[in-house]
Amino acid sequence: MIYRFTRGEGQAGIHSLSDGASLSWKPAPGPQTKGKAKVCWSSALIIPSAPVASSPPPAGQPRNCSRTGWGPERGADISNPLSFGCSTYCRLATPPRRQRAMARVLIVGAGLTGSLCAALLRKAATRPLHLAVWDKAGDSGGRMTTASSPHNPQSTVDLGAQYITCTPHYAKEHQSFYDELLAPGVLKPLTSPIEGMVIKEGDCNFVAPHGVSSIINHYLKESGADVYFRQCVTQINLRNDKWEVLRETGSPEQFDIAVLTMPAPQILQLQGDIVNLISECQRQQLESVSYSSRYALGLFYEAGTKIDVPWAGQYITSNPCIRFISIDNKKRNIESSEIGPSLVIHTTVSFGVTYLEHSTEDVQELILQQLENILPGLPQPVATKCQKWRHSQVTNAAANSPGQMTLHLKPFLVCGGDGFTQSNFDGCITSALCVLEALKDHI
Ligand SMILES: Cc1cc2nc3c(=O)[nH]c(=O)nc-3n(C[C@H](O)[C@H](O)[C@H](O)COP(=O)(O)OP(=O)(O)OC[C@H]3O[C@@H](n4cnc5c(N)ncnc54)[C@H](O)[C@@H]3O)c2cc1C
Repeated sequence: MIYRFTRGEGQAGIHSLSDGASLSWKPAPGPQTKGKAKVCWSSALIIPSAPVASSPPPAGQPRNCSRTGWGPERGADISNPLSFGCSTYCRLATPPRRQRAMARVLIVGAGLTGSLCAALLRKAATRPLHLAVWDKAGDSGGRMTTASSPHNPQSTVDLGAQYITCTPHYAKEHQSFYDELLAPGVLKPLTSPIEGMVIKEGDCNFVAPHGVSSIINHYLKESGADVYFRQCVTQINLRNDKWEVLRETGSPEQFDIAVLTMPAPQILQLQGDIVNLISECQRQQLESVSYSSRYALGLFYEAGTKIDVPWAGQYITSNPCIRFISIDNKKRNIESSEIGPSLVIHTTVSFGVTYLEHSTEDVQELILQQLENILPGLPQPVATKCQKWRHSQVTNAAANSPGQMTLHLKPFLVCGGDGFTQSNFDGCITSALCVLEALKDHI
């Protein structure tokens, strides 16, 4: 079998696998990537040293909509993936572990769900795993993206998620996740004043001092996955019991398992065999996922600029365009004479919907006009970044598919993301745990 996998640039070698097979590789040219991603593809040849045991008969298509098949069992607890009926079914279809070879796993989406899926799958894997994460964007984060000023990369704004609210329920349920991020300082308690924020008893709020995308980068690093940006997946086909995944640029790649973590409408846009693999019932469930839309505008100022307000963030209730403003560095307790302040504005959903198809340049102008009414006399920013969030926050999650939706077994094709739970940190954790539960006996 010829596999393709990544390895340090220019290296070649031979490696023994845990199942007794050996793996040899040689350098080969491959797709160019940016940032943290590794850039060199190599061809690898897997030479089995012992006969491979035949797998159990194909488990066939999942019956996603049925109570007795893959839907949640009656009384299932959304936060506890172990309470879902699917886990029993997955275990029955498990091939013996000892003789399984390396699995190639693709995760589409380098947002919170995708990055956490990668980290969880890596931890749970009982065999060599080649993990790849592809994202159509130029950087990690998804809706937890942090933009930098082109003049000073240390001046940043969170364009999507602003802070993380941990309820008493999730403080217990997801304690290990919070601990893991609090210990190295990826998350810190939110101490700056946010005017108009609704604080419920027992809730704790956290910010990411290095920007909210540092959470995603933490998980991507932990996963050891090969992360490729500007890889827009367009088609998914079934070829010899593997997923052949096509992207806008670059050659198709084959994977044993694929996990899709993009918003539901973007899953429905994919072409190829996937179109016919989605059952009518699953299609309806995916179509039922709805999102709000809004814009975010990031403004970067010169070092030394003073923005003289007594708050770090403010919810606005009296403006048709602006819903939220944050002095982003102040929100994260970063005030320095060398780094200019940064500000982020979120529009109202009604403004977002009205101007959804307008150009971001026009929308930016309208937001700046309204900002002048709220904060008159602000200096000129040195750089701006206007972001359209067509799929901002989930207003209606997929019915009857808490956490994940398994589109196909053997090979596995699973969807996850906040569209199957709720639009926040804990929603994404819940979804990633459900994806893990569906796949854990197969990795
Ligand atoms: C304005 C705003 C404010 C928010 N505020 C908060 C908050 O304060 N607190 C909070 O907890 N949550 C907040 N949220 C919600 C939170 O950001 C999301 O719930 C979470 O980021 C969703 O993560 P995800 O990984 O499921 O999806 P995403 O972050 O959307 O990740 C999906 C990824 O898939 C990629 N992708 C899509 N299609 C393709 C394709 N065809 N090929 C390759 N890649 C593709 C996208 O580029 C994206 O990176 C906010 C969201 C927004 C937009």
